[in-house]
Amino acid sequence: MSKLIMIKYGELSTKKGNRGFFINTLYKNIKNKLDGLDVNISKDRARMYIEFKDKDLDEIKSRIDKIFGIHEYDIVYSCDSNVESIKDEVLKLVKKKDFNTFKVSVKRSDKSFELNSQEMNRVIATHIFKNMEDIKVDVHNPDLMINVEIREKQSFIFFNKYPGLGGYPVGVQSKALLMLSGGIDSPVAGYLAMKRGIAVDCVYFEAIPHTSLNARNKVIELGKKLLNYTDKINIHIVNFTEIQESIYKNCKDEYVITIMRRMMYRIMERLCLKYKSLAIINGESIGQVASQTLESMNTINSVTNIPVIRPVACMDKLEIIDIARKIDTYEISILPYEDCCTVFVPKHPVIKPSIETCIEEENKFDYEKLIDKCIEDLNTIKLEKEEEKFDDLL
Ligand code: ATP
Ligand code: MG
Repeated sequence: MSKLIMIKYGELSTKKGNRGFFINTLYKNIKNKLDGLDVNISKDRARMYIEFKDKDLDEIKSRIDKIFGIHEYDIVYSCDSNVESIKDEVLKLVKKKDFNTFKVSVKRSDKSFELNSQEMNRVIATHIFKNMEDIKVDVHNPDLMINVEIREKQSFIFFNKYPGLGGYPVGVQSKALLMLSGGIDSPVAGYLAMKRGIAVDCVYFEAIPHTSLNARNKVIELGKKLLNYTDKINIHIVNFTEIQESIYKNCKDEYVITIMRRMMYRIMERLCLKYKSLAIINGESIGQVASQTLESMNTINSVTNIPVIRPVACMDKLEIIDIARKIDTYEISILPYEDCCTVFVPKHPVIKPSIETCIEEENKFDYEKLIDKCIEDLNTIKLEKEEEKFDDLL
C-alpha cells in the first residue's frame, strides 16, 4: 500500500476535445510548481497522482493550493482493486484512527468491478464491525469518513478531501496583458484572469519623477504575489511621464484623466500586438471613480478594438478586498506610494466625457510620436521563481 496525493481535475474534464491539452498543461504546471521537491508525478485521463516524501507534505499542499485547474485533491492510500485487499486495507487504516461513528462512501468508476458501490459499502462496513468494537455508523455527521474510489488498475482509500483552487490551468488560454497599478483592484483582476487559464504579463505606467521608485517596487512586489499562481510573469514598465505632462499642459482640466486613460489603452493595444496578447485586463470596477462610469468606459474603450476584460467590474470593493487578502496582495496594495493616476487628480473630473471633446483635446499635441517613444523605451522586468528579493527596496 502506498501513500499518494490524488488530484481531481474538475472543470476541465468537461472540455472534451481539449482534454489532453488541458491535462498536459496542468501536469506541466504542477511539475513546475513542485520543482525541487522529491516527487514523482503521473497522470491518466481522470486523475493525477503524486508520490511524495512525508516530510514534504505541508510544502506540497501549500504549493498545490495555488495551482489553478485542480478541483479537489486527496491524500490516498492505494491498494489492489479487489474486494479482499480493499476491505483489509481499509480496516488496517481505520484501526489506527480514533472515532466512534463512521460512514463508508464508495465510488466505483470501474464498472466491471464485481460489486456495485452500495454492495461494497456494506462489505466494508460489515468488515469493520466484525473487527472493531463500540463503533456505529452515522450517515449524517460521522467522526470518520471513509472514502473509497475503485478504479481499474488500483483503488484508493482516503479520509479527508481538500478543495483545490478551481478554474483552468494557466496556459490553456492565450496570453493577455494586465494593467497592474499599485492599487487593490488590479492584482485581484490579474488573479481572476489567471483563474480562467489566461497567462498574464503586466504593464505598469509610471511617471518618474512624479511617481517614485517605491511605487514601482510596490508593483513588482504585487507581481511576485501573482507569480505564486504561475511560473513566469513579465512586467513591462512604460515611461509615461512625457505623455502625462503633455496632457496636463494641453488639455482641459476635467478631461485629463479620461485622456490619460485613452492613452494608456492606446499603448496597451500596441503592446498587445507586440507581445501577441489577445486581451487587455484591468481592475476597473463600475462606478468606483469618475473614469469608471459606463459613459467613461465607452469613451475610453473606443480607442481600441482589443477586448478589455474587467474581472472585478461588478464586484463591491469589500468583495475585491476579500480576494486581495486571500492572495496576500492587500497589505502591499495599501502602502501609500503615489501612482500616476493619483498624482494629478483634477478637482472635477468629467463623469460623462464625450469622444468628440477627447479627440479635440488630444489633437493639441502629437501623442502618436510620444506613444512610439513609450514603446521604444519600454523596460521589462522578468519575474521567475527564486527571483532576487526586492523587499529591502520597499
Ligand atoms: P487599483 O486599485 O487597481 O489601482 P483603482 O480603483 O485605483 O484600481 P484606477 O486608478 O481608476 O482604479 O485604475 C483602474 C485600472 O486601471 C486599475 O485597476 C489598473 O488596472 C489600471 N491602471 C491604473 N493606473 C495604472 C498604472 N499606473 N499602471 C498600470 N495600470 C494602471
Ligand atoms: Mg489605483
